[in-house]
Amino acid sequence: MALKIFNTLSRTVQEFIPLDPAGQKIGMYCCGPTVYDFAHVGNWRTFVFGDLVRRYLSFKGFNVQHVMNITDVEDKIIKRVRQTGSSLRDFTNQFEQAFFEDLKTLNCQMPDQTPRATEHIPDIIALIEKLMARRVAYRATDGSVYFSIQKYRESGSQYGKLVKLNFEEMRVGERVKSDEYAKESVADFALWKARLPEDGSVFWPSPWGEGRPGWHIECSAMSMKLLGTSFDLHLGGEDLAFPHHEDEIAQSEGAGVQAAGKPFVKYWLHAAHLMVEGKKMAKSLGNFFTLRDLLGKGYSGREIRFLLLQAHYRETFNFTLEGLQRARVSLLGIDECLGKLAELAGSTTAAPAAALTRQVEQLLDEDLNISGAWGAVFEWKTETNRQLAAGNLNSAGAAAALAAWNQVDAILGVGAPKEQEVPAEITTLVEARQAARKARDFRRSDAIRDELKSKGWVIDDTPKGPRAKRA
Ligand SMILES: [Zn+2]
Repeated sequence: MALKIFNTLSRTVQEFIPLDPAGQKIGMYCCGPTVYDFAHVGNWRTFVFGDLVRRYLSFKGFNVQHVMNITDVEDKIIKRVRQTGSSLRDFTNQFEQAFFEDLKTLNCQMPDQTPRATEHIPDIIALIEKLMARRVAYRATDGSVYFSIQKYRESGSQYGKLVKLNFEEMRVGERVKSDEYAKESVADFALWKARLPEDGSVFWPSPWGEGRPGWHIECSAMSMKLLGTSFDLHLGGEDLAFPHHEDEIAQSEGAGVQAAGKPFVKYWLHAAHLMVEGKKMAKSLGNFFTLRDLLGKGYSGREIRFLLLQAHYRETFNFTLEGLQRARVSLLGIDECLGKLAELAGSTTAAPAAALTRQVEQLLDEDLNISGAWGAVFEWKTETNRQLAAGNLNSAGAAAALAAWNQVDAILGVGAPKEQEVPAEITTLVEARQAARKARDFRRSDAIRDELKSKGWVIDDTPKGPRAKRA
């Protein structure tokens, strides 16, 4: 079965065919975090989506090389470094570490490489030199180096491959030094920013004088260094399509480093925005959540991951706290079903039952139809519960069902809940209740049950004996 994905370059759903003639190796680049603060839940939607793509490609048998950059020099970072008085490295390190911890909390697989911009300054300079040599870049009077959109277009290249740009209506030819700018003012963008007094000690020497790289050039330099000048997949949030990704294409293809007819990137995938409680996220609206804010409210990484993975990646998704509550209930339903299967299967092992995996694969092959895949998972759960209740499953059947779930979960990554730790005091009470029951002292056993309840625990009498569960 072939995977089809929506390629922003062609604006159509296309079959995914790797550049590797053997059809095996895939290079995948995801724009990573700018480490000046904790990533918010909108960022996490994109990163969890990237993880889904990676896991699914691995499931399909491809050998994925996943690169995610760490932007550790940038306008906002420099501002914070100045405000806090710490060194660039000390400042960015804390947020880089937090980012990796959060990635783990959401059960995202670590990218194979996480290059830092500050450790690739020579690669960045070498790429700018190529652009200078081809005359699509120039040094302006302010000492900074800019990419010339006009020269690039005159060389027969197209600027505006990902987003439609109307050059007639835009102010072309003006220069913009900041990394983020609006579509209405397409302009020559900075590749190298000349050192300013407010940059403090954040600068590097270059052939054009001391300064620092622009944001866009770092992704071109690092992606091509690690994945080659032409690679398969580039992912990011839809807000990055312009100008960031458009500029990445211009810089990478403008350097003339690809073999004839080969693009910088074959497939561009963009994840849609996230709304929170029906609105665009904003600190002033009180709907701005980092992952840590949500953990602080008592939600788990798997509940948050589950919710972030509910909607199709090209649909705007409304993330709500109520949705997180529903996610908790849905996951509990899955966990309960898996628990019953595990009990029935015991130590029996079996090959996975094929139906669920096949169904999920068919759905994900169609431009990663994740909501369809969840639908299949919940139908499977309902049917499995029905079979269990009817006594239609034996231990081999239960083991086959569990193995199927494990295959599917290798893609979804919601995993199993952490084994609940039962405090010793509770275990002692459970044992005392069991002893009382054996002695037919039901008054005492009921009293112990009530005591457990008052401590927030209930007893689940399973065929293997009583087990304490959180009420
Ligand atoms: Zn990028």
